[in-house]
Amino acid sequence: MKRKEVNSARIPIYRDAGFELYDAETTAEAFRKETEHHRESENYIYSRYRNPTVVSAEEEIMKLEGCNWALLTQSGMSAIDTALSIFQIGKNIRPWLFFTEIYGGTISFIESVLKNRRGLDIQYFTPDNSNYDLAKLEHVLADLKPELLYIETISNPMLIVADVENIMRIARKYGAKVIIDNTFATPYLYKPLSTGVDLAIHSATKYFSGHGNLSAGVVCGNDVKMMQSAIEYRKFIGHMISPDDAYRLQTQILTFELRFSRQCDNASKLAVYLKNIPFIKEVWFPGNKNHPTHHIAEKLFGGKGYGGMITFNFDGKDKDQKRSRRDKFIKLVSEKIKLIPTLGDAHTILMPVEAVWGTKYPEPGMIRLSVGFEEYRELEGIVSKALAKV
Ligand code: PLP
Repeated sequence: MKRKEVNSARIPIYRDAGFELYDAETTAEAFRKETEHHRESENYIYSRYRNPTVVSAEEEIMKLEGCNWALLTQSGMSAIDTALSIFQIGKNIRPWLFFTEIYGGTISFIESVLKNRRGLDIQYFTPDNSNYDLAKLEHVLADLKPELLYIETISNPMLIVADVENIMRIARKYGAKVIIDNTFATPYLYKPLSTGVDLAIHSATKYFSGHGNLSAGVVCGNDVKMMQSAIEYRKFIGHMISPDDAYRLQTQILTFELRFSRQCDNASKLAVYLKNIPFIKEVWFPGNKNHPTHHIAEKLFGGKGYGGMITFNFDGKDKDQKRSRRDKFIKLVSEKIKLIPTLGDAHTILMPVEAVWGTKYPEPGMIRLSVGFEEYRELEGIVSKALAKV
């Protein structure tokens, strides 16, 4: 059958594994151009290298992050691997410095792949009192002179907001590149590349996709050389997202700001509500005035919101009572608020912190909520009904 242009306003899902290159001359030119690692191709070669549906979805993310380039990968973890690995040139590199308050999967990747398999010099920086002590950070940077510093805009599960502008200033002074995981804040609240951060990564599985139905990651940046390295790494390691997932992500991302702004509003209201429950001991939410990094959240997010995550813990006379309140609550809300180990879903979902993080956070009654974009009154109704029985 002869193919023809159709009057569709959408980018098709190009499911080609390899693209037609017609003749030897076009093939030679396509492969020559491929060595230059352009973001787009005049002649696509092979979907693991680059794919037009993927490029189109990447352009939506570039608009959101306000950056020169964005590269999609099959998961947040492959985006993290890509962003970090482009700085691993040979064996003699300076240490890499990571904040300890980052996603647990990233810590596991650092320990098991970067440290144990690749033998890299990995160093950590631990916050004091749920805040980042910048004077201490400066000492560490001066001492280690690391190649790179890796942080998250909003940490997990304590929701510590990083003072990105000041961290950047110190990192630059000591010649460290900075990579930031902006998954929890999203570009709706903060665009780290505008502060000069070298690379921003996202688990697009979360708020960008927004419906808990696909796995994707993205590396965003402005520097062309870093883009070329990242394109090359993604191609050789095979971290490329599938065109089907890129298409679905591109469709779902069109409603990202609508969804996320509502999630921020819902979370702000629910955090206030939870604070007034007598047997809830603490509520960690960057919008609450008593959160240790509330002032940084105000500065960075300009009052637009504080994210869609809330961590709180049940009080009790001992650990058993705290656990029992937690478990009762989880059971009572389970029809509407499900225990699902992800975040950024359409509906509110939860995780018991102790079951995932073990003893890292000593309060056993802790629950992490990922607030959805359902109608707020309905959400508060479900929570209040359960709390009345707890
Ligand atoms: N970064 C953060 C902050 C996360 O929470 C996660 C996953 O939960 C990841 C990265 C990894 O993303 P993915 O699960 O899409 O690989």
